[in-house]
Formats: sequence, structure tokens, C-alpha cells
Amino acid sequence: MTLAETSKDTCSKNPFLTLKYEPALESLGDDYYDEVVAAKFPLHILRWRNDALLPRLGLNPQAVTDEDFIVAFGKFEGRIPLLALRYHGYQFGEYNPLLGDGRGFLYGQVRGRDGNLYDFGTKGSGKTPYSRGGDGMLTLKGGVREILAAEMLNAMGVRTSRCLSVVETGLSLWRGDEPSPTRSCVMVRMSRSHIRFGTFERLHYFQRPDLTKKLLDHVIEQYYSHLVDEAEKYACFYAELVKRIAELVAQWMATGFCHGVLNTDNMSITGEGFDYGPYAFIPNYDPYFTAAYFDYYKRYCYINQPQICKENLELLQQALKAVISPADMEAGLRMFDECYLAEYQRLMWKKLGFVQQLPPREAEELLKATIAFLKHYPVSYHHFFADIAQGFSRKWQEDASEILRESEIGKSLGKSELFQHWSGVYHRILSNFTSGEELETIAQTLLCSNPKITIVRPVIESVWEPIAQEDNWQPFYDLVKQIQSSACTKQF
Ligand code: AMP
Ligand code: MG
Repeated sequence: MTLAETSKDTCSKNPFLTLKYEPALESLGDDYYDEVVAAKFPLHILRWRNDALLPRLGLNPQAVTDEDFIVAFGKFEGRIPLLALRYHGYQFGEYNPLLGDGRGFLYGQVRGRDGNLYDFGTKGSGKTPYSRGGDGMLTLKGGVREILAAEMLNAMGVRTSRCLSVVETGLSLWRGDEPSPTRSCVMVRMSRSHIRFGTFERLHYFQRPDLTKKLLDHVIEQYYSHLVDEAEKYACFYAELVKRIAELVAQWMATGFCHGVLNTDNMSITGEGFDYGPYAFIPNYDPYFTAAYFDYYKRYCYINQPQICKENLELLQQALKAVISPADMEAGLRMFDECYLAEYQRLMWKKLGFVQQLPPREAEELLKATIAFLKHYPVSYHHFFADIAQGFSRKWQEDASEILRESEIGKSLGKSELFQHWSGVYHRILSNFTSGEELETIAQTLLCSNPKITIVRPVIESVWEPIAQEDNWQPFYDLVKQIQSSACTKQF
């Protein structure tokens, strides 16, 4: 067999290359993308394969080899066209018309077993017409960090893209924010869509209402298909997008997630979170915690996230007014605060164990007391809830002083006024409004809503260090396994 024949043979048997790709975006025409070629790399080592996603693609993980991943998602053999998507965006409040996929492309789109269309999008796969001064590459640590963010968020029930694979590619990269030179990789991300708010902003910039409408029809057909036959489908779409984004940011706030770079090119039109660069889970409830070191004015700090998402939705109105009436969009946006608050409260009460209806005054007081305590003392946001989940006992219903008595937080701060107030309200709700039977549900809800595991920065560093120092991936694999198995499948 010649080399070309061998390569053809590898491709024809590769399950990723025999998937039935749907040219959904491609069929809209080349106003939305540029065809590109992937970089050639000196090395291909598969560092991560997300077997948990394969059944959704109709693939049996046991039937997929590491080499299949490498050929498809490291060497990019046998698949054309690869599409660098065009988009603009507001970055830190300034409009930037020089964006676009600068280090990635849309590899293909596949319909999952669940009926949803999924994108395979790359990051770190080489230069494109949009790379500007960039090298088109992704650092290995960047790949590792995005895997962790996506798996953790997914395990906590947050709508997110996932990473399908990471292949180390053997280049030395220079970066200002990592000890350089540093290792390179290419990541493949599986998401509902890579169409961003900024994709529409670009079409508005070029004054192309025709292309805006075409793309919006496509978005509704693929990602809001229940609205296709609605008389007011465009208004309904915007209203639903507002709801999805409000819920997404409420999920981030409740889980203590700080995205870091909420530019409009990082906001998906499907309302799914994606693109996790300098993100961080908050170590403690510091409203002004800022994830990106280059965010000098704390624009995207933890507490600003809901307002920023709302502003991004408002900016999007400019781009969509070619198709959707401004009055309809205004009406849609007015629902943001209510949707956000309802979802945030629901999730926070759930983190405290409550899924049943509580008297509103009591529920609100509990939440206020919780935040007041967490804001005043630099206790770990994660451990506070994890300790409640691990330590919850029937005794808490009988005696307020039992609450978190065994935990470090209780031992060190149990006598403080804010703790006493919080545990007093918690105890009052447990004793006045909770039956014996409900205690069991509370215990389960707590365990489900507050995984033991966290990926605050020191935890990420603790698995990155062995990789960087001695190429030891085991701690990282163990952590991902723990995260994936912490996912709660029980519905409340
Ligand atoms: P991000 O901050 O990752 O959302 O990226 C913002 C923009 O910069 C996008 O258009 C990226 O494609 C581009 N970009 C980021 N890093 C690089 C890089 N190393 N090479 C080329 N383009 C990049
Ligand atoms: Mg981005």
C-alpha cells in the first residue's frame, strides 16, 4: 500500500470521519466563514478524550481508538471544508471589527442521538485570516483549564460546551501570562453552536439585513425549533434568548463561577456558556473578584456578570433590529431581572437543601443571611456549602447550635453574630416548616447540589504542576474522573 492509500484506509475506518456531518452552517453560503487549512504539527499525543460524550454521537467508546482521535482531531486528515467563522464583538465595551476565529475553525456539525445539532470547533489549530498578530495556537495549560471548567460546570448542571479532545502538538509557545516557552495543544470543543452575539454584530456593521435574517432563520430552525411556526417567532426568539442567558448567568453566580471575559464574541446565541480562558471559581464570596489579570477596571468581576450579560443582550438589539421590532426586544429584555432573580434564588435555596416551597419571607431572609455571612468572612464559598451537605443531620432541626458544629467554619466562626443569625434562620426553617420526611429530601438535595470537589485555582495548579514538572497526568485524570462522577443525575 502507498502512503496515500494507507492514509485513505485509516480515514475510511475512523469513526469520526464516517460520522454523518450536516453542512448546516456551510449551506448558508460563504458570507459567514472562510475556508482554512489546519496547521501541521511536529507531534501528536492524545492527552484527553472525553468518552462521556461519545454515546451522544452514537459511538461506542470501546470502538474508538486513541489513533482515531489523533487522526481526526490532531492531524485533521480527511475532512474538508474547515471553516473559520467570521464575527466581530464588543470587547471590554469597545467595538472590535477585527475579530473572527483566529486560532480555530468549525470542524463539522453532527446531529446527536438526542436530536440536537452539535458543533465540533477547534482551538489552537493554526492561523487563519483572523489571527492578526497571534500565532493561532493554544497553550497546553489553556486546554487543560478549559476541560476542567466545562466538566465542572456540566457536573453542576450548568449549560456549557464540553471538550471532546486535547492533543498535545509539540510546539513551544511564548505567552506573557505563563512561564514561557510553554507547550502547545489543539482542543476540540463540542457545543450547541459557535454562532455568537458578535456574529450578528458583524452583519449589522456591514449593513446586511438580508444576511442577518438568513442567519436568524437558521438559528431559530436549529436551536429554537419549537418557535418555527410561531406567528411572532422573532420576538419569541429574543425573549427566549433573554431567558436562557438570564438562567445561565444565574447558574454561574450560584456555582461561584466567574467567566472572566464576557465580551459579546464569547456569548453564544444558544444561551450556552463556552470559551473558558482566564475563568475562575471564586475562592470566597468577594463580589469584586476578577478572573482576568488584564481586566484592570474589574469590568467582568463576579458580581457584575448579570448586569454585563443584560447589557450584551441590549447591545445585540442593535444588530437584530433589522429583523425584530425594537419594542418587542425591549419587552423581552424587561424580563431579564425577574428571570435572573427567580433562577438565582431557586438555585441558592437548592444549595441550602430546599426544593419545596418555603414561606417567601423566610426563604428571602435565609438567602440574605447566607450572603451576609459569606461576604463578611473570607470563608471558602465552596466549602461552606460542601460542609453543609456533608454534615447535615436531623439534630440541626432540634438545635441551632448543632449546625456546622463539626466543621472548621463552625468551629472558628460559630460564635460570630453573622453565623449565629444565619444558623438561627436555618434552624427556624428546619423546625417550623420542614417535616421529618422532608429532612431526607433536604439531605439528598444538599449532596446533589454541592459536590465535594472544587476546581478553585489552587486545585487546578495542583494538577497542572505534575504535568508541567514531570509530565505526570495522573492527578489531572483523577480529578476529571472525580468531577464527572460527582454529577448528580437526580432531578429535583
Ligand atoms: P478569546 O479571548 O480567546 O475569546 O479570543 C479573542 C479573539 O482573539 C478571537 O478572535 C480569537 O480567535 C483571537 N485569538 C486569541 N488568541 C489567539 C492566538 N493565539 N492566535 C490567534 N488569534 C487569537
Ligand atoms: Mg473567544
